[in-house]
Amino acid sequence: QFRAILVSKTEKGQKLDFVTLGEADLMPGDVTVAVEHSTVNYKDGLAVTGRAPIIRHYPLIPGIDFAGTVVESGHRLIKAGDKVILNGWGVGEGHHGGYAGLARVKGDWLVAVPDTMTTAQTMAIGTAGYTAMLCIIALERQGVKPEDGEILVTGAAGGVGSIAIAVLSKLGYKVAASTGRPEEEAFLKSLGASTIIDRNEFSGPVKALAKARFAGAVDAVGSTTLANVLSQILPEGAVAACGLAQGMDLPASVAPFILRGVKLIGINSVTAALTRRVEAWSRLAHDLDMTKLKELTSHAKLDDVAALAADIIAGKIRGRVVIDL
Ligand code: NAP
Repeated sequence: QFRAILVSKTEKGQKLDFVTLGEADLMPGDVTVAVEHSTVNYKDGLAVTGRAPIIRHYPLIPGIDFAGTVVESGHRLIKAGDKVILNGWGVGEGHHGGYAGLARVKGDWLVAVPDTMTTAQTMAIGTAGYTAMLCIIALERQGVKPEDGEILVTGAAGGVGSIAIAVLSKLGYKVAASTGRPEEEAFLKSLGASTIIDRNEFSGPVKALAKARFAGAVDAVGSTTLANVLSQILPEGAVAACGLAQGMDLPASVAPFILRGVKLIGINSVTAALTRRVEAWSRLAHDLDMTKLKELTSHAKLDDVAALAADIIAGKIRGRVVIDL
């Protein structure tokens, strides 16, 4: 038996209960994992609060990420005792997720925990951090180099943003951090940002082209912010767009693309191929300073998830939160 959060549909929307379940309550899969840690991502916030229709199957155990130890496996490459990470694949959306002591999923969805990391560290990274790494790899593939100029990170004090700053600075990039939380300036500088920009600077009317300032950007915000960011990218620079914290819309013009050769690269972590996941996780093991990761991480319990879900949607979470099962 294990403890879990279960979200059910009600006439008013959805409700959240703490329940005790057995192995038979889990969904089909060839690998069963004793979950050690999960986390709260923005999408978990949307799912748990019901603010967006993330949950597609009721009742559901939410939690789009987990890490733990394999207890049973019918997968040819995975054996009992292996330490594994799960990110996305619709887990916590249509398949029971990480807010539980036990999880059962397809072995093909799992990535091995890098040798140098603990399961807790992988959840301090979580989907947010693994997506930040996918964004940075995308910029590298577009040829963006440290000597080309500053890289802008939006939503800087959030999960994607804080890990993007830490990795970019370790890779030698000069990082500008856009935030709505001026009180986090010291925190963002400790992660490696050299310039702090008030996020309101990217929320005003969008010009087709503004003064070009950044060689590239990691954008977790979308909407007017992304449109303004595009208008300020240096010729041949690139933007990796992964988020919608401000909104799903994109009120931009094509001017940056056709007059400056700016590239806009979309990042989808949920169904990224295993090879890309393995690459991102091995890069994180190499290019993320674990002291900085500790600095941006806090720990909480399953009982705290509902409150943390509301907080992340309100933009109040600093860095990343690990849920200890
Ligand atoms: P998070 O920790 O809440 O970070 C989001 C940050 O965005 C906030 O901390 C805040 O940063 C900023 N922000 C919030 N509301 C804003 C607004 N109205 N206008 C401007 N900025 C705002 O969330 P996360 O887990 O890092 O996720 C960030 C985004 O990436 C989410 O939209 C999430 O859905 C998306 N995401 C996508 C993928 C993918 O596969 N594409 C994967 C992971 C995450 P400041 O306080 O510093 O301003």
